Parts: sequence; C-alpha cells; structure tokens
Amino acid sequence: MTAALALARAAQVGDPRPHAVVIGSGFGGLAAAVRLGARGWRVTVLERLDQPGGRARVFRQDGFTFDAGPTIVTAPFLFEELWALAGRRLAEDVTLVACDPFYRIRFDDGTVFACRGDPAAMRAEIARFSPADLAGYDRYMRLSAETCRIGFERLGHVPFGRFADMLRVAPDLIRLRAWRSVHATVARHVRDPRLRAALSFHPLLIGGNPFAASAVYCLIPALEQRWGVHYAIGGTHALVRGLAGLVARQGGRIRLGAEVAAITVRDGRATGVRLADGETIAAAIVVSNADSAFTYGALVPPHCRRRWTDRRLARARYSMGLFVWYFGTRRRYEAVGHHTILLGPRYRGLLADIFDRKRLADDFSLYLHRPTATDASVAPAGCDAFYALVPVPNLDAAIDWAGMAEPFRRAVERRLERTLLPGLGDAVVTSRVMTPRDFAADLLAPRGAGFGLEPVLTQSAWFRPHNASEEIAGLYLVGAGTHPGAGLPGVLCSAKVLDQVVPDAARLR
Ligand SMILES: Cc1cc2nc3c(=O)[nH]c(=O)nc-3n(C[C@H](O)[C@H](O)[C@H](O)COP(=O)(O)OP(=O)(O)OC[C@H]3O[C@@H](n4cnc5c(N)ncnc54)[C@H](O)[C@@H]3O)c2cc1C
Repeated sequence: MTAALALARAAQVGDPRPHAVVIGSGFGGLAAAVRLGARGWRVTVLERLDQPGGRARVFRQDGFTFDAGPTIVTAPFLFEELWALAGRRLAEDVTLVACDPFYRIRFDDGTVFACRGDPAAMRAEIARFSPADLAGYDRYMRLSAETCRIGFERLGHVPFGRFADMLRVAPDLIRLRAWRSVHATVARHVRDPRLRAALSFHPLLIGGNPFAASAVYCLIPALEQRWGVHYAIGGTHALVRGLAGLVARQGGRIRLGAEVAAITVRDGRATGVRLADGETIAAAIVVSNADSAFTYGALVPPHCRRRWTDRRLARARYSMGLFVWYFGTRRRYEAVGHHTILLGPRYRGLLADIFDRKRLADDFSLYLHRPTATDASVAPAGCDAFYALVPVPNLDAAIDWAGMAEPFRRAVERRLERTLLPGLGDAVVTSRVMTPRDFAADLLAPRGAGFGLEPVLTQSAWFRPHNASEEIAGLYLVGAGTHPGAGLPGVLCSAKVLDQVVPDAARLR
C-alpha cells in the first residue's frame, strides 16, 4: 500500500460522515457519488473493471485513444452542475467544443443531410431535400420543443416512485400522444422518406426502436438544438476522469477491481455489500449503477423481490446489442466529419430484423466516429482514430459472436471502403472489436444489451425500476436501466433524482 493510499484509508476510518456505497462507476454512478458527497455522505465507489467509466471507458492501443462508448455530449449544463457541487468549474478540468454540423447522415443513394444547430441552416437543409416538408418540419420542431420542456426539463429528474406520479403526468402524456411511436409522429409531419429517417432515428441513441419508442423521445432534436452537441477534448473519458477527480476532492474513494457479488439486506433494509472475494462493506445506503436487471437479478436475493422477480426480468424487453469496431488508420480522411451516420437501403425492415426478428442483417446501418476531425491528440501524427458502431440484435439472438465477429468486422470494413473510406483495408494499423458478448462479460449487461431496458412506454417512468428501490429500503438505483433512461443526459438526471429520495447525511449523524 502506498503512503498516500494508507493516509486516505486512515482518514476514511476516522471520517464521521455516514457511509454510502455506489456499485459501478459509469456516468450515473460517478454523478451519484458527487451528489452524495456534496450532501455530506462519505462515498465509496466499487468498480469491477480496472478503470472508471463503464460504457464510457477508454481503450488505448498503439498510440491511439478510443472512447469505448459515448461520443456525443449533450446538455452540458448537467456536468456543470456536478462541478459546481464540488466547488469547481467544469472548464477548469475539461474543454468542451461545440460540433457543427452536429452530424451528417449519408443515405444509401449517396445524398448527405447535415444536421445543424442553427435553426435557419437546418430549415435550409430540409428545404434542399424536400421544400414541401418545411411547414411540417417547423410544426415537428415545435412539438419536439414542447416535449423536451415537459419530458426532459420538468420530468427528467423527478422520482416516479408512486403510481400517483404516473397519473399526475397522464394529461401531458395524452397531450403529447405518448402512445404513438417516434416514427409515427415524425411521419405525420414530413413525407420525404429520407427526412422521416433523419428526424426519427434518435431513439437508437438510447437503445430504442424508432418504430416502438414512445413519442416522448421526440424531445431529442430539441434538446440537441437548445444546448448543442459537444465533444470533450481528449475524448469523453476526460469527463470520466474529471468526475473521478471531484469524488476524490470530496474525500470519496473509487476502488477499482472490486466486484460486488451481493447487496446485503437485513429486515428489508440494505446494510451494505459483499464483494466477490468475500469482503463485506457496511453502508447506511447502497446505490447501484449496475444495469438494473442485473442489480435485481443477481445482486438482490430472490426472497427480497416482489416486483422485479426473475420471471418479470426474463419477460422484460432489452435494448439492442452493439457491434463496435475501433480502428486507427495510417492516413487521414479529411473529407469525413466528426460524426457520420451511414444508412443502408432499408430502415423499417432493418430495425425489425434487429429488434423483432433478431437476425443479423448484411445491409446494416452504422455510426462512424472520427474524433481526429476535431482533436488530433487521440491519434499519432498523420493518423485517424475511428470507431464504427453497428446496431445488432442483443443476445436473445442465436448469433455465435466468437465465430461471427471477424467476418462481420470485414463486412463493416468493406462497406466503409465503398462509401466513405477508400483504401481502408490497407490503411488500418490498429483494430479491436466489441460484440454483445463483451457487453455481457465486461459490463454484466443482461442479454448483452447496449443500453439496458428498452425505452418503450410500458418500461418508462413508474414502469421502470425506481430510483428509490421499491423492494428494499436504503437501496437506490442510477444509470441507464432506471428512470429516466440511457444516454448521458438520462443517467446524469437519474443521479439528480437522488437529491429528492436520499436523506441528507446530516439527518443520520
Ligand atoms: C457504444 C456506445 C455509444 C454511446 N454513445 C452515446 C453518445 O454518443 N451520447 C450519449 O449521451 N450516450 C451514448 N451512449 C449511452 C451512454 O453511454 C450510456 O447510457 C451511459 O454511459 C451508461 O451509464 P450508466 O450510468 O448506466 O453506467 P454504465 O456505463 O453502464 O456503467 C456501469 C458500471 O457498473 C459496473 N458494474 C456492474 N456490475 C458491477 C458489480 N457487480 N460490481 C462492481 N461494478 C459493477 C460496470 O463494470 C460498469 O463500469 C452510448 C453507449 C454505447 C454503449
């Protein structure tokens, strides 16, 4: 043990603050740690991996830095709030730059739609594709703004612990026609099939099928337009490191390589956790940032669960899987922007393959990340860092990823070579992939799902596992699998809910 670590431990032993354990160091867990630390809790974050960040961890290899997961930072004020709670300014630790355009969508016919933050530029782009759809687009953006005001600003950070909370928002849900899907809503406003795809794909960013996700998720275009789309210099992991620094400043501790095997419960109340190596850690409260279905299915004993039984978890709907190919090239592709969505020939049919038929299609769509368009620091000089992310079926599908990973990677490479990255096969100098199997093995994600429980109306708000556990007193949930859901704004808001459901530490002293 280093002297510094010994001192930190000694300081914690004499620390009179009540103890909170956070399981997992994803963005939800780190945000929860900062919020609890600011409210007088002594926080220990337990993370099974060897680095913090969860889905937002980082892979470094051969001089390249690859963010494993999130690349698009929206609603940065949620990060600013956390820094303020810890007595600092976000800009002291992390440089965020605004992306313009937000992203480009390349359709299968080769046309490219640039999604812009400036409303006038965006309207010009809509008119370039389909002048007849301009009025419908304007109406859709007004609806998106209203949905954002209600769904994100008003309800995104409030607890949905009682059914009465659901009844209270029922009039809003009816007004927003929340039972309709995002795609059905968009299709009532614009006719051009390319614009229908460009305005409706957003639920995929949080694990939902645009043809099944509630119209509540129509809020995303307005959220992007209001607060912008940002990139953190050095990569999204700069935000993870920044948050970890805030936890340390508050006197909290992040223990890496610490896997929780069980949440200990006495008389219906969480008393702490037991690690996989047998160590027990007592705590006044436990906050789980592990996937909610894993928290209930694996960490809470069955006899303590009435709502989230094994049967119910087995019947739940899980988000799609992700195949991610991280690669570096010896050359730069200057014509390729920071964020590109490359759509294949099918939209509805492909999504049905992924979410319903659970088959791996060969005419897939993908998202291509090229951070070196904005930030040369993540690759050696003259090189580009990329990742290509392909939505695929989760592990409900009988896909042998051990055998399929390399053929599928080659198919992705061929598609990119034909469309955006000529000569790619000869230019790749470093490469690694993640399949749904890795999400299950590394992140303990049930069904290898990329985003936890699927965001459909019947699994949203009160219907989602609650932030204050409905099963066990003193247990709280944050992260993608609880309210409000996946994506950085969602998981940061889930931690914000804790401010309303966790008592101030001072009350326990
Ligand atoms: C490839 C990809 C791209 C994405 N792109 C974007 C994007 O551009 N913008 C955006 O806003 N969102 C994006 N998302 C979604 C976003 O990244 C996630 O919703 C969010 O990061 C999940 O955070 P979380 O708090 O749920 O925790 P997670 O990241 O899921 O972390 C949970 C942590 O808990 C740990 N853990 C689990 N069980 C245990 C245990 N028993 N003991 C100890 N530790 C445990 C895990 O190891 C993990 O570190 C993306 C996701 C993926 C996968």
